[in-house]
Amino acid sequence: MVKVSIVKCDSYDHAEIGVKKALDLIGGIKSFVKPGDSVLLKVNLLTPKPPEAAITTHPKMVEAMINIVHSASGEALVGDSSGGLGLTDKALEVSGIRGVAEKLGAKVINFDSAGTYTVDIPMGKELSKLYVAKPVMDADVVVSMPKLKTHALTLYTGAVKNLFGTIPGGNKSLIHGITGSSERFSEALIDIYSVLPVHLAVMDGIVGMEGLGPHMGTPKRSDVILASKELVALDAVASSVMDFSPHDIPMLRIAKERGLGTIDLDKIDIVGENLDDVKVGFKKPYKIYKSLMFLPSSIRNLFVEKPRLPFPIKKKCTRCKICEENCPVDAIKVSNELYFDYNKCIICYCCYELCPEGGIELKKSLLPRSSYQTRVKKVR
Ligand code: SF4
Ligand code: SF4
Repeated sequence: MVKVSIVKCDSYDHAEIGVKKALDLIGGIKSFVKPGDSVLLKVNLLTPKPPEAAITTHPKMVEAMINIVHSASGEALVGDSSGGLGLTDKALEVSGIRGVAEKLGAKVINFDSAGTYTVDIPMGKELSKLYVAKPVMDADVVVSMPKLKTHALTLYTGAVKNLFGTIPGGNKSLIHGITGSSERFSEALIDIYSVLPVHLAVMDGIVGMEGLGPHMGTPKRSDVILASKELVALDAVASSVMDFSPHDIPMLRIAKERGLGTIDLDKIDIVGENLDDVKVGFKKPYKIYKSLMFLPSSIRNLFVEKPRLPFPIKKKCTRCKICEENCPVDAIKVSNELYFDYNKCIICYCCYELCPEGGIELKKSLLPRSSYQTRVKKVR
């Protein structure tokens, strides 16, 4: 049975004790890292925000993992590609991750400028090949280090979704552009997961994010650290800590259907804390229509995936153009005025995730998406 450990930790000042305990419960760091191994810590650097915003992996978690890797005589490397074009270096600085890594002698890697390998996806449903940052494929051990958060498109983001950042720069936008819906994007995430050599996940669940994650939600304490060698199982347990059903999360359900992971809690050996004792209800980014879950996805999506369209908030927009540069289908034009063309919008939420001013809101609609397709929003 696959093991997932849960350890209580109520302060980032104790993160190293918590991470070590979580790893010891699943065999200890030496069962993953041999002396001389290069160990890539794939952190979550969605966008340049400080640790207290609870968007990026906390630097104390990264510090803890670097020290633990060094204690096993491994070489720690830290890397990611942030959600927005050209934002990774700034995110490394602002998140505090570059600071702790360099202080401890760990190499810091911006995946956007580290070169790529082309990786075939033989069993891919949405993607047949992938451009992956070279350091991910070159490392002896890869560790996914996600943050416990909700996600407006995929409902939950964790260890599996964190791997999306192994794809440098604009290729992430292209995948959003190809897939569009939550269901198809989740299928692509599992395509990616199916070919990446990831050996371990250590989750920062001390302070997560509820509501409109992964960027615009509210920080939420859950005071836990989770670890597992199976990312899907870790995500199943982590989403249960939030009091979400893993079966309601498209990427986890798809992983199970494709035989790529375990999401049934009775088939997972949860060690450390009792799951019921650490459950914290997180607010969802949108309502799940559980009663429709038995329908085929093509029919269910008509109901479940109600269009929540991105609308700019006039008084917050500074016309920085980050949304325009990152929209995968060129649906946004920023000049003296800001236009959103809903004829083109595929509801990927890249603009919403990446706007540094919190200048885009998602609005619900009970109407079919087609009723919005001629609408153009003019804010200035
Ligand atoms: S909406 Fe946000 S990302 Fe877009 S131009 Fe305005 S401030 Fe920049
Ligand atoms: S307008 Fe925003 S949500 Fe729509 S496709 Fe562009 S980036 Fe994605």
